[in-house]
Amino acid sequence: MTVKLLSGTQLAATLREELKAEVSQFIDRHQIKPTLAAVLVGNDPASEVYVRNKHRASQSIGMNSQLHRLDSTASMHELLSLVNRLNADPDVHGILVQLPLPKPLDATSVLDSIHPDKDVDAFHPENVGRILQGRPRFLPCTPHGVQQLLIRNSIPISGQHVVIVGRSDIVGKPLAAMLVQRQCGYGPNAVNATVTVCHTGTRNLSEITRSGDILVAAVGQPRFITAEMVRPGATVIDVGINRVGDSLVGDVDFAAVSPIAGALSPVPGGVGPLTIAMLLRNTLVAAQLQATSRAGE
Ligand code: NAP
Repeated sequence: MTVKLLSGTQLAATLREELKAEVSQFIDRHQIKPTLAAVLVGNDPASEVYVRNKHRASQSIGMNSQLHRLDSTASMHELLSLVNRLNADPDVHGILVQLPLPKPLDATSVLDSIHPDKDVDAFHPENVGRILQGRPRFLPCTPHGVQQLLIRNSIPISGQHVVIVGRSDIVGKPLAAMLVQRQCGYGPNAVNATVTVCHTGTRNLSEITRSGDILVAAVGQPRFITAEMVRPGATVIDVGINRVGDSLVGDVDFAAVSPIAGALSPVPGGVGPLTIAMLLRNTLVAAQLQATSRAGE
């Protein structure tokens, strides 16, 4: 069986081109430049890279990007004051607080303090609830990237058994909530799946993963999904990013699974690049929402 490689790098470039055109139309119409404000506390090297990539990507599609830095010793009061200032700033449309935060800062309280209209990561409880109810304001970035990878490769979701390994608040749970909906803005084939979510409490994991038409790995363990866990011909989406020595590897054993899967996303170059593209999409959505509410439309 020849596996179809699901390239996120190529798709992210297409999505950025589409967004660039939409951003330009938005600016022409409203004379407002969509603006993303990133908050970085401390100097974690991986976070520095993520924030720099987001900054470059925003600028490349004609958006504004602000970086607000706080020292690693910053207090909760300082951080919450900064978020509140950004919440009140009409020139800021999207706010992201780069995680992880240095100890003892409490990420939950900080994320809860972001105004839901500016919560472009879709982590605020109000936005999570809206996703669950099938009326999202923003779609969470990584799950949205997974959904786009399937849609744009014409892999049907409706009626399929999607097995997700991992139940985190940023990947597994919101992805399950999105794909189980009856309908969504991307058409009838983009949702309406039968979804199973697996975790460390799951018994007979391999049996369940082998029953998936679509298998999503969001485990955080290098090469966790082996050939025996995959049904022949299944679509396998690897969300994992694990550093092993000098290289990045996914949660799927790529070499072992590629002869078995029908389609497979690589790491790097799979879901990773799509996450930033979806963040930029949310920043444009946020700017549109705020422009509309200001104009009283
Ligand atoms: P996480 O919060 O650590 O959650 C991992 C999940 O996997 C948990 O639900 C855990 O179960 C489950 N799990 C761990 N070991 C397991 C086992 N042996 N059997 C069954 N389930 C197991 O991870 P995350 O934040 O979702 O991230 C997952 C991976 O995706 C990481 O490699 C991360 O770097 C990557 N990631 C990539 C992107 C991207 O842009 N591509 C974005 C976010 C994350 P319990 O709940 O029972 O502990």
